Amino acid sequence: MIRIYTVFSQLYKLSLTDRQWLEQDRASFKGLGVSCPHCGAKSCLKEFGYYERCLIELESGEPGIHRVGIKRYRCTSCRHTHALLSSCLVPYRSYSLRFILTVLYSYMCRHRTVEQLCSHFGIQPSTLYAWKKVYMKQKETWLGVLKSLYRSGMSFIEGLTGKELEGFYEKFRFSFLERIPRTDREVSFIVEGRGRGVT
Ligand SMILES: [Zn+2]
Repeated sequence: MIRIYTVFSQLYKLSLTDRQWLEQDRASFKGLGVSCPHCGAKSCLKEFGYYERCLIELESGEPGIHRVGIKRYRCTSCRHTHALLSSCLVPYRSYSLRFILTVLYSYMCRHRTVEQLCSHFGIQPSTLYAWKKVYMKQKETWLGVLKSLYRSGMSFIEGLTGKELEGFYEKFRFSFLERIPRTDREVSFIVEGRGRGVT
């Protein structure tokens, strides 16, 4: 998987739709000078078809389901293929990053009951609680236990920038809100060991 970042500002204030964000990321990627995530060879990535995946984003506050094309690249050195994944997406999840953050923010506001919130966003309460669990865990991993205690969940989401998302990926080698059910010691193995499944 190759993660690409062209949005560096506050996500909370971003006016692009997720599909526009995805298109911007995809158009900016030329492959030149980029290292293969598997073998590290430089400038060896060539286009190698694409596949479709589901993207669920918010459109004027309402869920919208779309099929989007994901480009795949192959390394001419090691022959491994890699999906090019925009930073608006969370690997292996259909819901966009901002969709999940918006749901979590609404949950933390407590202006609606969980039932009302889930009904509005078209999700199950179990999905909401699973997202909350991953969010809380990774916020703590990112900030450290002490800082995380003093930084509210809402304030963290309001301030989150694309630049920080990129920094998170570079530091931990998995994406923010990506499902990582293993311990930190196992993370690098798990990420490297992933096959060619749809991201
Ligand atoms: Zn390679």
